[in-house]
Amino acid sequence: MSTFLGMPTTAPRGVGNLRGDESFPAAAHKALGNAQLRRNLGHATATIRAKSGAVIDELPDWQELRTAGSALKADTMARLPELLLQLEENVTAAGGVVHWAADANEANRIVAELVRATGEDRVIKVKSMATQEIGLNEALEAAGIEPVETDLAELIVQLGHDKPSHILVPAIHRNRAEIREIFLREMPGVDPALTDEPVILAGAARRYLRETFLSTRVAVSGANFAIAETGTLAVLESEGNGRMCLTLPETLITVMGIEKLVPTWQDLEVFLQLLPRASTGERMNPYTSMWTGVTPGDGPQNFHLVLLDNGRSAVLADEVGRQALHCIRCSACLNVCPVYERTGGHAYGSVYPGPIGAVLSPQLTGVEDNASLPYASSLCGACFDACPVKIDIPSILVHLRNEVPHPRTEQAMMRAAAYAMDHPKLYEAAQHAAKLSKVAGRRLPPPLSGWTASRDLPEPPAETFRDWWAKR
Ligand code: SF4
Repeated sequence: MSTFLGMPTTAPRGVGNLRGDESFPAAAHKALGNAQLRRNLGHATATIRAKSGAVIDELPDWQELRTAGSALKADTMARLPELLLQLEENVTAAGGVVHWAADANEANRIVAELVRATGEDRVIKVKSMATQEIGLNEALEAAGIEPVETDLAELIVQLGHDKPSHILVPAIHRNRAEIREIFLREMPGVDPALTDEPVILAGAARRYLRETFLSTRVAVSGANFAIAETGTLAVLESEGNGRMCLTLPETLITVMGIEKLVPTWQDLEVFLQLLPRASTGERMNPYTSMWTGVTPGDGPQNFHLVLLDNGRSAVLADEVGRQALHCIRCSACLNVCPVYERTGGHAYGSVYPGPIGAVLSPQLTGVEDNASLPYASSLCGACFDACPVKIDIPSILVHLRNEVPHPRTEQAMMRAAAYAMDHPKLYEAAQHAAKLSKVAGRRLPPPLSGWTASRDLPEPPAETFRDWWAKR
């Protein structure tokens, strides 16, 4: 049987969390006014950077591992259709059911129908960026199904009616006093004498979650990796909540972006070394859960895999931009980014913040819907150096900047500049005019003022190359 997903399209509007309500500069301006947020972010990113840097330095072959990870991802993308079909075949043979979702609406509908078919009205969830991307929680709630996040940080975000602001530490913008207030206000059955000691807060969440795990029969997960040759899925987490979600319920529904594939078990070896060191700064991931279809009498007896496109085929079609699909969501690029460290994740308006969000979100939605994100970078290159799979984020940013619709005045200016450069006499005259105008260090007037809003015009040299050449 052949599978047809249709022509590549971008993620639909009106559903999911890929588009913000305002542009990056507007949202960043507000975020920069929040001193507490900047303190929380500065402290958290510096701590993760130091921890990750120390364990990466222990590996003499870190650069070779990065090169291997990059090559494996490039190979996977080049063979994605065939590998997806191989995955489908192997998941099905192992007793799972594979569903193909072209976009967020389709994926949400499939999951809601699967949950309804079980007769349950509550699901437990292990942190999944794909389900945040498609707005699954909102869709389930609209269908009368209560989703409960079980990752501690995700639970804080959910109870606080908030949005995640970091890939790995979604509640990075919250301090412990704020978390205590959220728990007291929202957590069912919480001890009113709760303090803001981290161990006490974690204990309260553990009690609440244990009861929920034991009384919920359907779970929804994401997946870090899927192995095409065996149909095995893998979730990496560090709290054990994922292990509970993946083993206790009767029905497990996994929503996975189609780019999460690796061809073979052996390929996984590379990523299991790269991911923990680059993300949490651990030598080995604390909880790595893997499952292949259904095992009678052990774990969930019904397994559904929803393969999500939602704009990914369109990204794959772009030869420069497709590198963004190599991302293993380690968040290293966020932790080293000087822009992210000051603005935090909410300013990016998408579930994918930081440098990877600046290149992934505009491609998933179509660049016109996230036109300011490719500019949310100083192009310093720190993200490229930190990325464990060597995604050249700065080059994709520049590529996307060329695709952003430019204002008419800018287009006219560029056409005029191109014409002048093509006509030597005119170019010479323009150089002299620039010298005479003495505009150096000044701002340009509207409608060109955007060019000099954050930079001075370069000072024209006292002598141009042509003047110097003519003298000889
Ligand atoms: S782009 Fe690279 S550094 Fe950033 S989250 Fe993805 S894998 Fe990690």
